[in-house]
Amino acid sequence: MKPLRYPVLLVGAGPGDPELLTIKAAKAIAQANVILIDDLVNEAVLEHANPKARVQWVGKRGGCQSTPQAFIEKLMVHEANKGLRVVRLKGGDPLVFGRAGEEIMALRQAGLEVQIINGITSAVAAASALQISLTHRDHSPGLVLATGHPANGVDKGWAELARCGYTIAVYMGVARVSQLCADLIGHGLAANTPVAVVQHASCAHQQILVSQLSCLPDDLAASTLGSPALMLIGQVVSQASVASFMQDSQVIDLLRQQA
Ligand code: SAH
Repeated sequence: MKPLRYPVLLVGAGPGDPELLTIKAAKAIAQANVILIDDLVNEAVLEHANPKARVQWVGKRGGCQSTPQAFIEKLMVHEANKGLRVVRLKGGDPLVFGRAGEEIMALRQAGLEVQIINGITSAVAAASALQISLTHRDHSPGLVLATGHPANGVDKGWAELARCGYTIAVYMGVARVSQLCADLIGHGLAANTPVAVVQHASCAHQQILVSQLSCLPDDLAASTLGSPALMLIGQVVSQASVASFMQDSQVIDLLRQQA
């Protein structure tokens, strides 16, 4: 008889607020024997876990010591082959800059089934913090999710992005903000295009900075904001509600000063 193997679950933990975890994700966490968890996940979501479950942090934050991807993939396969229920828990949504593509292939190659449980990605959490719609009939016909930290160090798409008129959500962009802003302006995006940076979107310690493309590097350098942060670039950012920042977050309202 073939030994029982559970599907490996790739689960999104959402952007940080533990209440933004889906019911399905909470159930998966509760049933897991092994939880392999990324360092952007709020550990409060582990309150759903069985106390007997083994929780292993396998973070890989940019620039820091991280668990090699191949090791994580081997670990998932190894634990699932023991007949254990494995949850791979990732910040935001597993399918957005979450190395899910590699992990799905590794699991398939090992003959294991995969299931994906979506989470709320940080770009939409950042938009909620600003109270803006990422798409807008008058301001933006679409949304692009882009990394500010491409694997090969080359951004081929920025020229198109500068011209497309879509809202651009930049993940992992804070460390390269000067280069990104210069590239977009160089490719023709207006220097006064509104930009927002939201750190720790959805969390109690969320911080927001609203600026313009040409001023963003200096404004960010003068602020206390850092990683993990999401940059939203485009006309929809002009609709951000400054009043709401006053209640919820530390405010750096540069747009108002520059208007
Ligand atoms: N899968 C995740 C993205 C992982 S890449 C998702 O769907 O959100 C890691 C990057 O995501 C960070 O560098 C940052 O740009 C962004 N990020 C993750 N959580 C965030 C948060 N709470 N607030 C702002 N940005 C966040």
